[in-house]
Amino acid sequence: MFETPFVVDLFIDGELVKPSSGRYSERFDPGDDGRLIGVVADGSRDVGRALDAARDAFDRDVGGWTTDHKLRSRVLFKTAEIIRENAEKLAVVESLFSGKTIRTSRLGDVPRSAEILEFYAGVADKLIGTSQVLKTGDLVAIVKQPAGVVAAITPWNFPLVILCRQVAPALAAGCTVVVKPASHTPVSAVKLAEMLHRAGAPKGVFNVVTGSGATVGRELVRSEKVDVVNFTGETSTGKGIMEAAAGTLKRVVLELGGKNPNIVFEDADLERAANAVVYGAYANNGESCAAGSRLLVQSTVKEKFVRMVVDRVKRIRVGYQLDENSDMGPLVSREQMEKVLEYVGAADSEGLKIITGGRRITSGLFSRGNYVEPTVVDDTPPDSKLFKEEIFGPVLTVTEFGSEEEAVELANSTVYGLAAGVWSNDTGKALRTAEKVKAGAVWVNTYYTLPVEMPWGGFKQSGIGRNNTVLAVEHYLEHKGIYVDGQQGPMRPYYRLVLSG
Ligand code: NDP
Repeated sequence: MFETPFVVDLFIDGELVKPSSGRYSERFDPGDDGRLIGVVADGSRDVGRALDAARDAFDRDVGGWTTDHKLRSRVLFKTAEIIRENAEKLAVVESLFSGKTIRTSRLGDVPRSAEILEFYAGVADKLIGTSQVLKTGDLVAIVKQPAGVVAAITPWNFPLVILCRQVAPALAAGCTVVVKPASHTPVSAVKLAEMLHRAGAPKGVFNVVTGSGATVGRELVRSEKVDVVNFTGETSTGKGIMEAAAGTLKRVVLELGGKNPNIVFEDADLERAANAVVYGAYANNGESCAAGSRLLVQSTVKEKFVRMVVDRVKRIRVGYQLDENSDMGPLVSREQMEKVLEYVGAADSEGLKIITGGRRITSGLFSRGNYVEPTVVDDTPPDSKLFKEEIFGPVLTVTEFGSEEEAVELANSTVYGLAAGVWSNDTGKALRTAEKVKAGAVWVNTYYTLPVEMPWGGFKQSGIGRNNTVLAVEHYLEHKGIYVDGQQGPMRPYYRLVLSG
């Protein structure tokens, strides 16, 4: 379907361009590291060029982008249509570079990306302000205007869908954008740029600069030409970004890490819960901020439930990411695999019991990729490294609780607060727990369902602001007040410094 390696150039001011550095870095297949799959432009000397294009498109309202709501709506709808027409190619790209299974990309990432664009296409032409005539006869109008140039910095685990989540509301609002995609997965951003421009986005509206976070990302965050930074990635990187953005007082939207609990009460539908717990922990190879990586289960059903979970985990088929039969693929990189194996090693040295998994898979093709067994660690205490830290891989910890209060306390005992699952057939108990858990998203008797209608963002150190829903558009708007005095003739007395006449 594709010739590899992909040559990934920059996309600036409406066209593909070569990097001024003349340098490209290499990307290898996470499932077969002997295979070169991409050569990626080092755009470290081109950030200024991309920012000038985005700034100019915004300040001069090139093609009417910042003022023509209907144009933006049409472009976003059309881009979604192009995504659907090219769904299979995009799915292959998503999986090839990230290691996620082809089924995940086909059934999840690609259609969800189109849905996000369609949702914001529907929002773009409805961003209308409000106005009110005061009792004095004066008018106050609140006018919604786009905030300016947005820098979007994206992670590698959902290259297209997270990118769409970050940029679609900004585009709907009338902003222009410069994207710095994750170094592991740069293709989708350039493809989205091409599709947006094919759909009619004016030049300069959407630009992509590939290269490292330390150079390209850092420059974007510090630049005076950027008004809003939307970042998805690690909590530690997010903290650095917030600090750097303070220099010019930019707005920041941060979607960061998670260490999400799946709380299973004794009265839950255990069959349904076991399926969802396994899905929540191992979908996308466990490389997800939303992964339900901590199972909290009530003591009375713990033994039985863990057996049900382990039985399912043992049936997960690990394989090459483009193989239709794989349930889990390789991790994105050698470093990511080593990080995950280090955590498993820490479980060993903390004396925790690994019930299943725990090793790198090295037989046959597996020896050439970053394959790790899906792993379950039993009886993980709340002070354990594995309980507290985001592993970002296929590792599920198990911790038991006695009461509803204890479940909530355990759920809330990490620095993160992104998501949680609650399982119970007692609606009152489920809702009380959902209410008390400090997380931006709580799923009751389900897990991972994240349509664009569901707000997405974190409490505590999981982030600032919300992506998804109409709420997200607010990050990219300025609300300007315009006051019109309805009175003719002299100013009202209380406005005059010198009273006369
Ligand atoms: P990183 O924080 O390492 O990187 C994210 C992006 O930031 C990459 O494009 C990276 O570039 C760039 N970057 C790195 N350093 C800087 C810097 N100093 N200034 C500006 N940009 C920088 O995260 P990962 O890519 O490893 O993604 C995994 C993390 O993302 C996990 O912690 C996960 O929880 C989180 N995440 C959160 C989500 C949410 O919705 N809350 C969703 C998905 C992931 P480069 O690739 O070149 O290093």
